[in-house]
Amino acid sequence: MKNSVAIVGAGTAGLIAANRLRKLGVETTVYDQKPRPGFPVRASGILSINGLGTLGVDYKKAMTNTLNGAKLHIGKETIEIRAKKPIAYVLERFELNQLLQEASELAGAEVKVGAQVDGKTLDRLSEKNIIVGADGAVSTVARHFKFPPIEKHILTFRAEYDYSVEDSGMVELFFDKDVTPGFFGWISPNSKDIAEIGIGIDSAFGNSRASFEKFKKIPAIKQIVENGKLITDGASIIPVGMREHFVKDNEEVLLVGDAAGQVKPTTGGGIIFGGNGAVYAANAIHRHIEGGAKLSEYERIWRKEFQKEVRLHSFFYDLYSSMDKKKLEQVARMIKLMRLESFLGKYGDMDRPSLVIKRFFLRGLAK
Ligand SMILES: Cc1cc2nc3c(=O)[nH]c(=O)nc-3n(C[C@H](O)[C@H](O)[C@H](O)COP(=O)(O)OP(=O)(O)OC[C@H]3O[C@@H](n4cnc5c(N)ncnc54)[C@H](O)[C@@H]3O)c2cc1C
Repeated sequence: MKNSVAIVGAGTAGLIAANRLRKLGVETTVYDQKPRPGFPVRASGILSINGLGTLGVDYKKAMTNTLNGAKLHIGKETIEIRAKKPIAYVLERFELNQLLQEASELAGAEVKVGAQVDGKTLDRLSEKNIIVGADGAVSTVARHFKFPPIEKHILTFRAEYDYSVEDSGMVELFFDKDVTPGFFGWISPNSKDIAEIGIGIDSAFGNSRASFEKFKKIPAIKQIVENGKLITDGASIIPVGMREHFVKDNEEVLLVGDAAGQVKPTTGGGIIFGGNGAVYAANAIHRHIEGGAKLSEYERIWRKEFQKEVRLHSFFYDLYSSMDKKKLEQVARMIKLMRLESFLGKYGDMDRPSLVIKRFFLRGLAK
């Protein structure tokens, strides 16, 4: 039996897996095609405080802001969901990556940078190693080992500006189907003096750069672009919809993170679900090496914990996608009429819609 692991991808998922594997005493090498994995930063870093607590990661040095809620702009309506206490942190993604890399190396993992892994390399590595594909939304490992496809991709474009927004505790989301079909736009106060603006669109609707140019014409965005200084920008991709399966027992190959589609379809957030995937995968590999347990135990445990949440996120995503502008505005008015803003401020959960639904009904029953 193979007793060492080759991880393809030194993003958050790959590095969390490496760290955990080394702590369990498993020989681990990580390969990343980039000379500086995680750089340039092409994604945001808004993470629920509850979710971060489940990863066992020391992220404090990467924290740049604390968030209390979100303002949702839907046509002429604005919904404000504000919690009394902080619900999320913004982390600087490259800094987080570096912290994770340092921790993995300290634990004894070898991280090989500038090392692109192709099909030939995978054939060679898989002779002696269990393979973990942590290589992101367009996974070479998934393609090479013929895993089922990811349903859909969201194309994104984001830019950071040297700019202080008025309320640095709130992220703003813009739902306008003409500008960002199939997703939304955002302003994220990444720190007190840095505002990130960004958009996503369903890949069926064209080009994220063109949508971003449209987005820049919205008055609140225009103000940032005209008064702030551009620091960095770039395009990326978000996978939406889990793969039908993400472990192959016979070939000893596992996928984690974006490569597996462990992403919330409503927001594109993947660090909490994918990070947990990495931890569960590492535990299963350890049990496999030590006692012959099946690697697919990882998939069973992950699905038990997160599948219903991903399905609920998908349900809300599909509902949103099916509504036209007028319907969306009506829903926003309804939310206000039912005073759901304060309910969500008090009982909302960024990761787990099932908890919000439970709390909604329990509160109703309690009245
Ligand atoms: C615009 C945007 C905003 C986002 N905002 C948030 C957010 O606020 N909160 C949140 O939780 N998530 C967010 N996400 C999602 C989050 O970034 C991803 O879920 C997360 O980065 C996935 O981590 P990963 O390790 O699975 O993959 P990645 O971060 O994509 O890492 C994959 C690594 O594999 C390497 N690699 C790929 N192919 C190969 C190969 N063939 N050989 C060697 N190396 C390879 C790459 O260089 C890369 O370093 C956002 C994404 C985008 C695009």
